Amino acid sequence: MTFRDLINKALFIEILKGLALTLKVFLTKPVTIKYPHEKRPVSSGFRGRHAMVRDPQTGKELCVACMKCAMVCPSQCIYIKYTGAEGEPRELTKYEIEAYRCIYCGYCVEVCPMNAIVLTEHYEYASYKRQDNYFDKERLLKNWDEHIKSLKATSYSNKFWKPLGIDIGRLPANKRQAEVELKGLSKDDLSQNIKEA
Ligand code: SF4
Ligand code: SF4
Repeated sequence: MTFRDLINKALFIEILKGLALTLKVFLTKPVTIKYPHEKRPVSSGFRGRHAMVRDPQTGKELCVACMKCAMVCPSQCIYIKYTGAEGEPRELTKYEIEAYRCIYCGYCVEVCPMNAIVLTEHYEYASYKRQDNYFDKERLLKNWDEHIKSLKATSYSNKFWKPLGIDIGRLPANKRQAEVELKGLSKDDLSQNIKEA
C-alpha cells in the first residue's frame, strides 16, 4: 500500500467522494417522471395505435380495398375482404389488424393511396385480453374518432409521415379547402403543403 492510499483510507476520501456524488444527484432534477401521472409528449414520427380515417362527409372509411397495405405488410397482420366485380368500385366488408403482430414499420401508412390508414400517437393500449388489440373496422374507425378528439383541431396526420396519396399542394385551388376540412388541417399546414409542392 502506498502512502497516498494510506492517507485516502485514513481520511475516508473514497466514502466522502461517494457521499458528494449522492448529494449532487439528490439535488439534481430527476430525468425520470411519475408515469402515468405525468406523461412525456411523443416525438415526431411516433408510431402508435392504428386508426382508419373516417370521411367526415359520409361517415364511412376512406379505404377503397385496393389491398396494397395487406400485400406490403411484413407481418401479414392485415386481413381484408371486399365485394365488387372486376373493374368496379370495391365495397370493403372486412378490415382487421392484429396489433400484437404488428411491428409498426409504417409501410401500410406509406403505401396507402387514399391516406386511409394511419398510426396515431396513442400508445396506452396494453390489455389483458388478446381480443382487445385485434382491431376490426369499427374499432379502427373508433380509434380515429378518439385520435381526432385528442388532436384538438391540429393536423390529423403526424407531419413527420408525409404519406403518399393526396398531395394538397397539387390539387386545384377549389378542391384544397375540402381536403383541408377532411384532414383537419390548419391554415399553416395548408400553406406549408403548397410551399412544398
Ligand atoms: S405498421 Fe407494418 S407491420 Fe404493422 S400493420 Fe402496418 S405494414 Fe403491417
Ligand atoms: S392501402 Fe389504403 S385504400 Fe388500400 S386497402 Fe389498405 S387502407 Fe384501404
